[in-house]
Amino acid sequence: MRTPFVCGNWKMYKTAAEARKFAKAFLAEYEASDVRVGIFAPFTQLPTLVRAFRGTGVVIGAQNVFYEEEGAYTGEVSARMLDELGVKACLVGHSERRGIFHETDEDVRKKLVTLFRHGIAPILCVGESLEQREAGKANEIVSGQIAADLEGIPDEDVRKLTVAYEPIWAIGTGKTASAADANEMCGVIREKIAALYGEETADCVTIQYGGSVKPANVTEIMNQYEIDGVLVGGASLKPDSFLSLVNF
Ligand code: 13P
Repeated sequence: MRTPFVCGNWKMYKTAAEARKFAKAFLAEYEASDVRVGIFAPFTQLPTLVRAFRGTGVVIGAQNVFYEEEGAYTGEVSARMLDELGVKACLVGHSERRGIFHETDEDVRKKLVTLFRHGIAPILCVGESLEQREAGKANEIVSGQIAADLEGIPDEDVRKLTVAYEPIWAIGTGKTASAADANEMCGVIREKIAALYGEETADCVTIQYGGSVKPANVTEIMNQYEIDGVLVGGASLKPDSFLSLVNF
């Protein structure tokens, strides 16, 4: 049985002061349950959030990492730097990073290797564009991303992996994939992992859906057989809205 995992991706929103305010309001109402909760914030908010959420069980994660240990990489942050702050998780390969910052599957693969080496739990984001979906290529694209991103990653690491299926056309658009379509695609991802690593390993992987998830649709999404969690942008930014998601 996989544990439900509800995560907020704050993208490039909030200052550290605003993050502190969020934490105070959220924690005033939050009761820990068997749902795992994660917040993925910009680098500058991470120390504040790690401190504010210490002892609560809420996982604080980064949204990006660079794959080298150290060196002349202006503007980048390493896994060792994240680890030192007490950051326990990290998004990898979000479509905004693949699209706007030209991250390739090879970059994503190297980032996964680095994160596993430092004991930071990755959430690997995959998903197809609208053109790809309309051309009937969604399965092929997403399976291809899984195969390329996981190449050479050992079985014992894949068992600890979370994958977020985020169709690009559903992100920030208010257009959610139907629960049935989201379920089907999460099933495609699990089948691909099973083909690469075997069913037992695939059964360990937590698979989330992301793309215009909000309090009004979270229950239906979480009720789908293949969906273990959600990765939420816009609706995770306000404490009361995020609490409704966590308490789906
Ligand atoms: P929205 O929930 O704002 O559509 O964003 C989804 C997302 O990209 C989460 O990583």
